[in-house]
Amino acid sequence: KRTEVPESEHGIDASLLDERAVRVVTTLQQAGYEAYIVGGAVRDLMVNRRPKDFDVATNATPEQVKGLFRRAFIIGRRFRIVHVIHGRGRDHEVIEVSTFRAYMDNSAAEQVEGNEKTSRDEMAGKSHVVDASGRVLRDNVWGPQIEDAARRDFTVNAMYYDPSTRIVIDYHGGIKDSQARVLRMIGDPETRYREDPVRILRVVRFAAKLGFTIEAKTQKPLKAMAATLANVPASRMFDEMIKLLQTGHALDSLAQLKAQGLDRGLFPVLDAVLTHATAGSPREKFVHLALKDTDRRVAEGKAVAPSFMLACMLWHDVQENWTRLRDAGEHPMPALSQAIDAVFDARIGDISGRGKLATDMREIWMMQPRFERRTGAQAYGLVEQPRFRAGFDFLRLRADVGEAAVDLAEWWEDFSLGNDAEREALVDAVR
Ligand code: ATP
Ligand code: MG
Repeated sequence: KRTEVPESEHGIDASLLDERAVRVVTTLQQAGYEAYIVGGAVRDLMVNRRPKDFDVATNATPEQVKGLFRRAFIIGRRFRIVHVIHGRGRDHEVIEVSTFRAYMDNSAAEQVEGNEKTSRDEMAGKSHVVDASGRVLRDNVWGPQIEDAARRDFTVNAMYYDPSTRIVIDYHGGIKDSQARVLRMIGDPETRYREDPVRILRVVRFAAKLGFTIEAKTQKPLKAMAATLANVPASRMFDEMIKLLQTGHALDSLAQLKAQGLDRGLFPVLDAVLTHATAGSPREKFVHLALKDTDRRVAEGKAVAPSFMLACMLWHDVQENWTRLRDAGEHPMPALSQAIDAVFDARIGDISGRGKLATDMREIWMMQPRFERRTGAQAYGLVEQPRFRAGFDFLRLRADVGEAAVDLAEWWEDFSLGNDAEREALVDAVR
């Protein structure tokens, strides 16, 4: 049931479109391909929000797409797409271009035992692969648009917008559902969660971010299917957790996880927070304030560093370990370093490619005791550290919940902003 919905019916405000995404679409169209803005961007446009990123869908293959743009890279193995890059540095932008994919039911797929790590050889040269539980490990078979729509997750994520004609192509009632603000799974929800358990987390994230309700049949299997998330690779779970916390609705996301009975046992980081953060405890206050601050920053269009957020979430774990090690006679700084190692082992695990994130978290934590020492050389040294700002923001959060002295945070604020004479006076004042 392909429907073509004109602007007068969908009401999308074309001024919310990103020029560069439109240019990617028109370049593809001029080369003779079909191309549309698709997915979350159309959904956000339907509720009159400016999308934070734009995805494009086309019938051109990744190689054909790559050939049309100067800066384009084919990425991904499980799901091959092209990144088209515009601009440089801070305001560089990535448009993800994906080729229409066939909807494969699992009987058409090749099945492998085990997970993608153990079965990489077995998957070599194959385009559509599932594991023994039906989870899709690889999805690279091209197909017509109608099938591309059917393999997407929610009806509101399966609309195609053509910026040239301003027509939306809708196969699954996405227009109606976005107007009613409902998240509805395409197809049989349980089957679709089994194919990709991450959809369980996606529905929670979208509900929190958009304030949409979850349609009853889509909601019903959530709790029972949560166990299948155990098969998802740790790195993908970690990315999803970061996304949940960076929606700009982190507190709502946690509340939504809880409402669905999914708040425990899925993410070690959240377990660390939720298990010990009883209402009104210092830990609860600290995490609440940190997430509120994160949400505010996102609302103001500012960046939030995952390292800062995670450093907040795990700080009380670090402190507990630190206290224990010091009580056992270890010197403070080595004890802190060991405490951090233990928390990484227990809560983050071995996630390769996260070196920078872990380094940044460690620096934020290691700076905290150093803020207590305000002799001249120490203070000048600390303020010159590249991560000083993050460490200081963390100190201020600690001061806000009464864990560090407000005077101390103010002293560092003044010191970091001060000129030479002011800094000298500040150092003298604490001598
Ligand atoms: P966001 O606002 O977080 O970017 P999004 O809907 O754009 O939300 P993406 O992860 O960017 O989410 O994916 C783009 C589109 O690809 C989705 O709208 C959906 O149509 C499809 N998609 C992404 N992940 C899945 C999935 N796990 N299962 C089915 N379809 C998916
Ligand atoms: Mg997107």
